[in-house]
Amino acid sequence: MKIQEKRIKDNILNIGRIGESEEGINRIAFSKEFIEARNILERKMKSIGLRTKIDGVGNLIGRKQGILNEKIMIGSHLDTVVNGGLLDGNLGVIASLECMMVMDEFNYSPKHTIEIVCFNAEEGSELGGTFGSRAMNGQVLVDEKNKNTLSSYGIDSESINDTINKEKILTFLELHIEQGGILENRSKTIGIVENIVGISRYKITVLGEENHSGTTSMDLRKDALVTASEIIVKVNKIAKLMNPPFVATVGILNVLPNSVSIIPGKVEFIVELRDVGESQILDFMVSIKEYINSFKKNITVEELVTKPHKKLSNKINTIVEDICIENNISYLRMDSGAGHDCKEFVDKTDVGLIFIPSINGKSHCKEEMSNFEDIYTGVQLLLDVLLYIDGEYGGSL
Ligand SMILES: [Zn+2]
Repeated sequence: MKIQEKRIKDNILNIGRIGESEEGINRIAFSKEFIEARNILERKMKSIGLRTKIDGVGNLIGRKQGILNEKIMIGSHLDTVVNGGLLDGNLGVIASLECMMVMDEFNYSPKHTIEIVCFNAEEGSELGGTFGSRAMNGQVLVDEKNKNTLSSYGIDSESINDTINKEKILTFLELHIEQGGILENRSKTIGIVENIVGISRYKITVLGEENHSGTTSMDLRKDALVTASEIIVKVNKIAKLMNPPFVATVGILNVLPNSVSIIPGKVEFIVELRDVGESQILDFMVSIKEYINSFKKNITVEELVTKPHKKLSNKINTIVEDICIENNISYLRMDSGAGHDCKEFVDKTDVGLIFIPSINGKSHCKEEMSNFEDIYTGVQLLLDVLLYIDGEYGGSL
């Protein structure tokens, strides 16, 4: 079964450009642009006989009933970041639609029920990232803390309950752009993702002494920002000694009182660490704490969040790899430094994530693009993997 290249390109451009402006594409979760794109997609789903549903948090699901109730899910998201690009999420959604369109053309009756999903609110917001997929997996519950925020989006416990998937899932597949430069750099067409990195964030607070910037001589200062700066440089130095995909970033700095003529008395910043295991994160923290203690100053380190890494299915990855070899597609087994909707399914079922290269490694900006040849290869691969899994497995994988 062959995909139709022109149709893919048309759908990617027609749906993906909704919300386009000079600065980039704005199809923010729950916005009218997001809903407009989702409505067009729903009409396309209906045109090939899919049964559609918009669940309680705004995810759109298109279902093709198979002989078995156990289902294969494929999908991604249609919301973007502010001033985002053409392909983040959109690619995986259109690719899923294409798989179903090809099946329809070839009158293919799947053994398993197949659901394609267009998630809402994957990009980080006040709801947190991967909101639609977390809700589908029962990871969003209405409590006192989030009740008001959720209700401002029209979501209550009933809508959350309507969203939670209660059926058996054989596998979840997602095609996505890499959003980095590894594949392009290594001249590979496909990335087979083995792990999605975990994230740990630590808040570091440095206390100094506020004082007059003109009258306090250099030897009498207790400048919190100078100490913080030394720590931040050290964060970068230690991180460079670690093995990939480990990364460490300080992206937020809060200087108090933040005045041009006052020596900073207090600085808070957040160190974010990402890796595919715990050991390097622990090693990093031992080293940075040792360094911090060497100052013998009032500095505290507080753990904010630790989200463990997610290991994707090696069974699926082997299937993807075999199909790549069979079709002479160059590929690389790699890790993902960004989270995606599929990761929320890891604890429930076998998950596969396929990357195609991003031109110049750019994403979350208007320059975000991939070669259409790579897009077609990715979509055909997704279809081939889907057909293989549907044909090969009677019951559970
Ligand atoms: Zn995405």
